[in-house]
Amino acid sequence: MLMHRQVLLLYVLLMIALYFLQGFLGFGLWPIYLISIAYILLLTYASFNFQFNFYTKAYHKGTTDDKVVALTFDDGPDQSVTPQILDILKSRNVKATFFLIGNKIPGAEKLVKRIDSEGHIIGNHSYIHKTLLTFIPSFMVRKDLNKTTAIVEKIIGKRTDFFRPPFGVTTPAIGWALSIMKIKTIGWNIRTFDTYYNEEEIILQRIKDGLVPGSIILLHDILPIYKTLLPKILDLLEKRSYKVIPLDQLINCDPYIEV
Ligand SMILES: [Zn+2]
Repeated sequence: MLMHRQVLLLYVLLMIALYFLQGFLGFGLWPIYLISIAYILLLTYASFNFQFNFYTKAYHKGTTDDKVVALTFDDGPDQSVTPQILDILKSRNVKATFFLIGNKIPGAEKLVKRIDSEGHIIGNHSYIHKTLLTFIPSFMVRKDLNKTTAIVEKIIGKRTDFFRPPFGVTTPAIGWALSIMKIKTIGWNIRTFDTYYNEEEIILQRIKDGLVPGSIILLHDILPIYKTLLPKILDLLEKRSYKVIPLDQLINCDPYIEV
């Protein structure tokens, strides 16, 4: 699969060639305009389709035939919902991954410590978690991500190496920042759209429909619905003989960098 840098190079070369050719052959500038529009459309499509791996190579599922999955929770820490989720996970002896938003951490340090001490992985979900992140230059994206990594490191003494882009949106600037930082980008293959539907039956059905060996399931630990829904999700997985394993085992990558 071609990535953005190769496509950009092809685009520039094609533009130069067409510009000089039209001078000789006189077919005008319309092919340049047409290809430029197609290029912009491709960039936009790729930005909203994380699975396309256009700006950054991400882990969207594990490569295994075993019936194993990983649970991931985005957008916490949430003082009300995250502890409830942790209680359920503890009672079921399940380890998950929490992609934290940096600006929610101040005041929730104990909760972040608890997530780590109970054996769950902590990942970076940006500091600002706003669409603004998709419009800022690469160095500012890095600054944003480093801010969350530093806050988490100060609390748990470990430097996370897992990042999940807010809203699953990636851009040339984000892709460039990630390649410089060499941080591992984590996607999903089951998106429940739980923040949109917020309904047990629909979320369970989406999990049932997408369930395959190696699945990475995207959930949000900001929704009170999980107090009753999470046990049902765990029951469903058990019923289908799927075991929940930690994300690092599923994708065979270390979640933290040695410091
Ligand atoms: Zn998010």
